[in-house]
Amino acid sequence: MASTRAALIVVAALVLAPGTSGAPGPLAGATIAIDPGHNGGNAANASRINRLVNAGTLRKACDTVGSVTPGGYTEAAHNLDVALRLERILRASGARVVLTRRTNRGWGPCITSRAAIGNRARADAAVSIHADGGPAAGRGFHVIYPPAIRGLTDDIAAASHRLALAVRASYARITRMPYADYTGSTGLARRRDLGGLNLSDVPKVFLEAGNMRNATDARLLASPRFRQLEARALANALADFLRARPSRLPLRSARAAHAA
Ligand code: ZN
Repeated sequence: MASTRAALIVVAALVLAPGTSGAPGPLAGATIAIDPGHNGGNAANASRINRLVNAGTLRKACDTVGSVTPGGYTEAAHNLDVALRLERILRASGARVVLTRRTNRGWGPCITSRAAIGNRARADAAVSIHADGGPAAGRGFHVIYPPAIRGLTDDIAAASHRLALAVRASYARITRMPYADYTGSTGLARRRDLGGLNLSDVPKVFLEAGNMRNATDARLLASPRFRQLEARALANALADFLRARPSRLPLRSARAAHAA
């Protein structure tokens, strides 16, 4: 137990330590795509976001408005704030980061573009950040990954599942948010109806960070301090995933950590 804890502290230190004086950070050489779900201007652009697009297994709306807490804090704002916090941590660790949006005042982009941005960047991993609009009595988080769908996700399903396990473990440990008790199973859900996953050519998961409609979760999700924990949890998960991945050249950091 003590050694596990020590190992976790080492991992956290590797991820969180800012790059120092020109030395490569622990994630140097890695590219991460971050997709903050929805957009603050979506509701005002209904005709644009309701346009149907090809999500791989079905046609569905280009984008949606997203959820909101009983107090009026929007999911779109939550998702972008966590994304920007995560970007800062990853950049400080030496990673190249691409985001699908950087403001909360526009609309979209469409789910097709959200996937394409990660593909074009040839990201090593991609995370779409959401917070759910579940039943008010239900709480907790879950991580969504794609099944192997022939011609769509058969090339990323196994790696996406590994990424989902890494995110689940890190998120539970660092945020203490429980697994969702109203959907999924032990904090995981496999879905074939999400264009952002179906159209991805890089390992990708969705995080549903909590349930915005639940009073307890809403209080946490609306707290900047909690959102920093969310970002830290995702950064740790991405580092764990990248370090453990098979059949890829090790990152500079992995070699450096090994030599140290
Ligand atoms: Zn969402």
